[in-house]
Amino acid sequence: MKEYVFGIDLGGTSVKLGLFRLDGKLLSKWEIPTRTENAGENILPDIAASIFAKLSEEGIGAEQVLGAGMGVPGAVLSDGSIVPCVNLGGWGGDAAAKLSEICGFPVKALNDANAAALGEMWQGGGKGCSNVVFVTIGTGVGGGIIVDGNLLVGVHGSGGEIGHIKIHPEETETCGCGKRGCLEQYASATGIVRMAKKALGECDKVSALRRCGEVTAKDVFDAAKSGDELAMDIVRGFGEDMGRALAAVSCVCDPEVFVIGGGVSAAGEIILNVVEKAFRAHAFPASEETRFELAVLGNDAGICGSARLMIG
Ligand code: ZN
Repeated sequence: MKEYVFGIDLGGTSVKLGLFRLDGKLLSKWEIPTRTENAGENILPDIAASIFAKLSEEGIGAEQVLGAGMGVPGAVLSDGSIVPCVNLGGWGGDAAAKLSEICGFPVKALNDANAAALGEMWQGGGKGCSNVVFVTIGTGVGGGIIVDGNLLVGVHGSGGEIGHIKIHPEETETCGCGKRGCLEQYASATGIVRMAKKALGECDKVSALRRCGEVTAKDVFDAAKSGDELAMDIVRGFGEDMGRALAAVSCVCDPEVFVIGGGVSAAGEIILNVVEKAFRAHAFPASEETRFELAVLGNDAGICGSARLMIG
């Protein structure tokens, strides 16, 4: 009888793994380093060895394992193939099928932001909902869209790439994607810092941020919380850009809840306040009351959602 499932969250520096019961209970979680050299040739053997070690440690037979889901830092096409991941030395292709061959149980791959979205729907900020948009705000802005319980992956694997919605066509600097004016250029951790530096350079307003050596997104939110006006302007600008983009997203998939996660979301309620306010101002009237929640699973969202994909 199938009783267990593995969730794998493959990142550029470490692989997080989780062993779950089919009812969602996380029995064990651990990490191994990601060896990216030689186009990531060690990645699959390392993961498989770690899984076999865990099975033997727990006294579980491979025949009791339903399978494994694997979140990867890149696009996954609808046929399950992984577009070569830049930060894994070009690793990708039919890796899920290969891992399945080594392990002897089914393996399904999905994009890491999509994995976090499924995780948050299953056990986190979107629990109980089947129409969820997850937004992750870290170095970049990513997302995952779930419609009627299913991920919206798209033909090119770019469904949910919320960070590349164009919101400022007049932008002159280039985004990581090669285009200009993407949400990520303003509303990611790096975008917020870029906006802060710009604001500090353009005016001579008194601000605690002038005393920070190298301003971080956390500095901006901390200063805003303690009443710093310039920092609050930057945070409002962030909220306006994010809220406007999510209002556009809601016109496409009309979710029940937006779940906001990623490193920047640690700033807490202030994020929801500014984003919700801008969202309600810009959203199509029927969707104005859409709920906003902070993500709750943190680093476990990826393993959790990967496991959920396998359970189906
Ligand atoms: Zn872009």
